[in-house]
Amino acid sequence: MPSEGGLSAEHVLEFPGGYTRTTGPVIGRFLTELRGGRIVGVRTAGGRVLVPPLEYDPATGDAVTGEYVEVGPAGTVRAWAWVAEPRPSHPLDRPFAWALIELDGADTALVHAVDAGNPKAITAGTRVWPVWRGQRTGHITDISCFAPEVTTIVSPVRTVYRLQAGGALQVFLEGVRRGVFVGGRCGGCGKVYVPYRLSCPECGIPMADQVELPDTGTITTFAINNLPDPRAPEVPFVSAYILLDGSDVPMISLVGGVPAHEVRQGMRVRAEWVPESERTLSMANIRWFAPTGEPDLEL
Ligand SMILES: [Zn+2]
Repeated sequence: MPSEGGLSAEHVLEFPGGYTRTTGPVIGRFLTELRGGRIVGVRTAGGRVLVPPLEYDPATGDAVTGEYVEVGPAGTVRAWAWVAEPRPSHPLDRPFAWALIELDGADTALVHAVDAGNPKAITAGTRVWPVWRGQRTGHITDISCFAPEVTTIVSPVRTVYRLQAGGALQVFLEGVRRGVFVGGRCGGCGKVYVPYRLSCPECGIPMADQVELPDTGTITTFAINNLPDPRAPEVPFVSAYILLDGSDVPMISLVGGVPAHEVRQGMRVRAEWVPESERTLSMANIRWFAPTGEPDLEL
């Protein structure tokens, strides 16, 4: 700080070779154990375990017992502060957390760095383990940092399975391969269900007969999806319930050939089929339903 009217100069107090301090027996024991890869605390007369150990119990002022107790090595974060921009003197050169860590078996918390990667990966209660330095010298930095417990792994999953269509689905998919929607008419209530099924869900009786429905219908409800789907033409895309002409229950399908925000209830649509040579026994034969251009229907 410049002083008014006087001379001023910057002074540096530095011990380039390091300033040698004696540790005393208690901290000395702690650091010696660290060099050996162990973390110890000291027991107080009241039975609590202080980590790092102290010569006097801060709660009572009494001398501690001299009984050293190995704790950890894992512990639980009790409080933490995120360091977004580490300084040169910090233990890590990437963002990390300073944390109060209560090691298993200890009654007090130790301050150390947690290499959590990002602040969302640490919270009060996070379990952490020490990361030991390869070369230990008997210093608190023999633990280079703590790291969150491994709780998840990423493993690739791929399951190939064959779906055996039941009798009803077989009938429907064979129709779809021909470019026809096959439904079933109930002999009791007269309702037409598509896809084809073996019995009426309302009457509980077998379907009276199969009916072939046209590939045109009306959108009854729809949803705009913003997550990509391999079957969809683009994002956003629309999936909709489509009431095929002559059917009493809608079926679900993609809608294409129209911007998502232009899709509406009552819109008339027609199935767009993949070329006959590419068809298989699957719903993939229907690319999607596209607007016919007819006037909307009142639902
Ligand atoms: Zn029925």
